[in-house]
Amino acid sequence: MAYKYIDNYREQGARKKLVEVLRKKGIEDENVLTAIGSMQRHYFFDETFWNQAYKDIAFPIGAGQTISQPYTVAYQTELLHIRKDDKVLEIGTGCGYQTCILMKLGAKVYTIERQKTLYEHTKQVLPYLGYKPNFFLGDGSRGIAGHAPYNKIIVTAGAPTVPEELLKQLAIGGIIVIPVGDESQQKMVTILKTGEHDYEKHVLDTFRFVPLKGENAW
Ligand code: SAM
Repeated sequence: MAYKYIDNYREQGARKKLVEVLRKKGIEDENVLTAIGSMQRHYFFDETFWNQAYKDIAFPIGAGQTISQPYTVAYQTELLHIRKDDKVLEIGTGCGYQTCILMKLGAKVYTIERQKTLYEHTKQVLPYLGYKPNFFLGDGSRGIAGHAPYNKIIVTAGAPTVPEELLKQLAIGGIIVIPVGDESQQKMVTILKTGEHDYEKHVLDTFRFVPLKGENAW
């Protein structure tokens, strides 16, 4: 595996430029920008496509799925306001790039993926890169009740509604960030849980995610 994990000057330079692009697009949290600036996104690409890795675009990762656009990763991460040791549930592990960004910010991550090939691949690669989240295979639209409550929940696929089950698994004071809409576009929604049955909801910008599939989803 080792041969492909090389961080050349070319990739380091491209990463710095990506950070400036994200800053110009409105990402302000310096911790998030530092995390993006220090995470080798090209490690999640086949070497043939390294020249695409630091463009601000989503890219196919196999199994009909994509690695999210860096701006989207930065945007969702900024909204989570990650603090060191936050317990974070991530729904949609994919290739694990977002997982690494969360861990760079000090989060303890529980990440769930419904596609077995992606789950198995990412479960091998991330520990090799030095990231050891708790990996789960299954339907994340049901959350992972056995490890709840979570300080933060991030959903990286588009949902038709906010699954009730996820709100239940959020700690009081916790935040969920989830794209909600139809299959062609979604609005980013953040919900702060202010009490056992009290929530503060904000509907933000429009994005386009792959669909969240499962019991409480499409
Ligand atoms: N977070 C990834 C990254 O760092 O780029 C991108 C994730 S991709 C946009 C969305 C992922 O959500 C896909 O891998 C998809 O298989 C997964 N997914 C969709 N529905 C799911 C569900 N119910 N439970 C878990 N994962 C799901």
